[in-house]
Amino acid sequence: MYRAPRGTSDILPKEQPYWRYVERKAADVCQIYGYERIDAPTFEDTGLFTRSVGEETDIVNKEMYTFEDRSGSRLTLRPENTASVCRAYLEHGLHNLPQPVKLYYITSIFRYERPQAGRYRQHHQFGCEAIGDDDPALDAEVIEATWRFFESLDLRHLSLQLNSIGCKKCRPGYLTALKDYYAKYTDELCRDCKTRLKRNPLRLLDCKKPSCQPAANSVPRSIDYLCPECDTHFNRLKKYLGLLDLPFTINHRLVRGLDYYTRTVFEIQPEAEGAQSTLGGGGRFDDLIEELGGKPTPAIGFATGIERIILNLKKQDISIPPLPSPQVFLAHIGEEAKDEATKLAARLRQAGIGVIEALGNKSLKAQLRQANKLGFEHAVIIGEQEIKDGTVILRDMTTSVQKTIPLDKLEEELLR
Ligand code: AMP
Repeated sequence: MYRAPRGTSDILPKEQPYWRYVERKAADVCQIYGYERIDAPTFEDTGLFTRSVGEETDIVNKEMYTFEDRSGSRLTLRPENTASVCRAYLEHGLHNLPQPVKLYYITSIFRYERPQAGRYRQHHQFGCEAIGDDDPALDAEVIEATWRFFESLDLRHLSLQLNSIGCKKCRPGYLTALKDYYAKYTDELCRDCKTRLKRNPLRLLDCKKPSCQPAANSVPRSIDYLCPECDTHFNRLKKYLGLLDLPFTINHRLVRGLDYYTRTVFEIQPEAEGAQSTLGGGGRFDDLIEELGGKPTPAIGFATGIERIILNLKKQDISIPPLPSPQVFLAHIGEEAKDEATKLAARLRQAGIGVIEALGNKSLKAQLRQANKLGFEHAVIIGEQEIKDGTVILRDMTTSVQKTIPLDKLEEELLR
């Protein structure tokens, strides 16, 4: 028997109400904040991701699904979507539109990770990107949109973590300070962090391994190394978040896992579980468009994980509206009635009424049992007598009360 590949899952019909609920709330927030939908291809040239996400990140180093197609092109299933959105921005000359260009996506993401609760090899993200402006008011607006999205889902007990990791002017000074600081601890660091110290010292900060915690306690803080421009930007952002009444915590160890981030970084986490189960996060990527061959173009965005959101909706017992389903079960007694039922089902569907017609030649009792199991509130029954009289029986499945209705009044009655 084949099974879904490790770390992937089928989204069965009983799960779909959660997915539609989250997607609808995402689209609502995007409409209010002025984001338009973009869908990019599932795979891209591998170089797009190595260039943007960074050669020394876990995503590029360990997690990409990369393959060669039949013509020898090296392609990768998207391990994140910001790079694709930026590629599309450049490819379609979106810099000619009024800036910032605001785009959102709901899409599948592929990462070869060690599967566990809330961590999969294929997951789905809802994200937004606002490209073409460096105003800290835009940072505040993006963070606010993320927060309002979670609020609109009724999710509670979340915390907003914030940090600034500077720009290409001030970051090198901070990285030197980090390297100098960690040099004293090299023997204690985990194997990954020993490599990070040489290649990507920023990532030392978010290592969760116990052996790396003592060193992390009094580590230098990025905000103490910001250049005056980054410092002003961060202070303005904090002011705007205050004006918007968004409670945030400065987390000096928040750096995020992708290399393209500059200045603002933020995450939204369940209060109880913290960083291990982050629901969403984002930040500025002011150099990315230029890195990909465009003019210098500041930008900011966020991404949220839909599977983790749904896990939290369930954990918090949040009730989800059901999806619309067929309204009427159509039962029939005898061959002639089955012919009539087939015609009637088509007629009702034309009128926009959802119908499930009984199949085979089961007894009426068996048909009504099926209608009950499927959760129908109403059944329409046709037998020989009804055909003769030009009527049908309408049965209330909850009370078992039945009434006879002229066939030509059925749509009216059902819609009522
Ligand atoms: P990232 O692109 O790593 O910033 O991820 C954005 C969001 O996607 C995270 O906050 C998580 O909610 C979710 N996410 C990331 N990786 C996974 C994964 N492997 N499985 C499920 N959700 C994930």
